[in-house]
Amino acid sequence: MLKFKTYLCPDTIEEALEHNKGRANVVLGGTGWLKMGDRSWNTAIDLKHLGLDQIEETDDAFRVGAMVTLRQLEIHPGLDTYTCGAMRESVRHIVGVQFRNCATVGGTLWGRYGFSDVLTCLMVLSADVVLAKGGAVPLTEFAAMKPDDDILTHLVIRKIPLRMAYASFRNTETDLPTLTAAVASVPGGLRAAIGARPARAERVEAEGETALLSAVSNLSYGSNTRGGGDYRRHLAGVLTRRCLEQLRGGEYE
Ligand SMILES: Cc1cc2nc3c(=O)[nH]c(=O)nc-3n(C[C@H](O)[C@H](O)[C@H](O)COP(=O)(O)OP(=O)(O)OC[C@H]3O[C@@H](n4cnc5c(N)ncnc54)[C@H](O)[C@@H]3O)c2cc1C
Repeated sequence: MLKFKTYLCPDTIEEALEHNKGRANVVLGGTGWLKMGDRSWNTAIDLKHLGLDQIEETDDAFRVGAMVTLRQLEIHPGLDTYTCGAMRESVRHIVGVQFRNCATVGGTLWGRYGFSDVLTCLMVLSADVVLAKGGAVPLTEFAAMKPDDDILTHLVIRKIPLRMAYASFRNTETDLPTLTAAVASVPGGLRAAIGARPARAERVEAEGETALLSAVSNLSYGSNTRGGGDYRRHLAGVLTRRCLEQLRGGEYE
């Protein structure tokens, strides 16, 4: 259960930062993950008055506020077209629509969850997160950083020319994924991100398909209750090949 003594809705990001000091205070996203824990906090900081719940699309980028929900990501027509349906595919297995109407981009990225479908999908894009104190940081760098007392305000996806595909494998529908894979064809080559290894998504790049598959195979894969390391390595090859097929406009193998 999530418990706190004081509930604040700051009107400015400066005020939010001022209160987000020390380990006793917590920023609230959609609270889907926080509610799974059993902890008492001093102050809970709700960002809902900061206007961070919109996806703004320009000619060059998508600017996604931290309080945008996974459901908003799923049904945004511009994101759907730009990601060739991959964004929608990456979130549609997450629990259910009611949950996706609550879970936020901020809480999802801040958690840097190893199993994250969304992080895997975003890793092959050219994306930055914007931190209130730290400014813009490439997502690939942010994913490796340790959480601190900053606040994530936006995700910015730069519109580079790209085709992409996303695939995940689950033992049962709506379970956490056993493996996640995203592949993008970008100017100069291919990118793949593999997550739920069960470690956090990692990106590899290569000029051609054979080299990409080899780089995917060389990532580290571990075991947990959802699958063994060797099984995950095999799945990573299968899902990457499926994504490559999709990029070529073909059917799955
Ligand atoms: C039962 C369950 C099943 C799930 N299954 C999947 C799945 O299959 N695939 C998948 O990809 N994900 C899955 N998730 C994760 C989910 O999609 C969200 O990523 C997760 O709930 C966090 O989002 P939230 O908005 O609920 O964050 P919260 O629970 O509100 O916050 C999570 C953390 O982020 C911090 N935080 C929130 N917003 C900010 C911000 N703007 N700046 C700084 N810190 C912030 C909070 O303080 C907290 O530490 C699952 C979660 C649950 C609870």
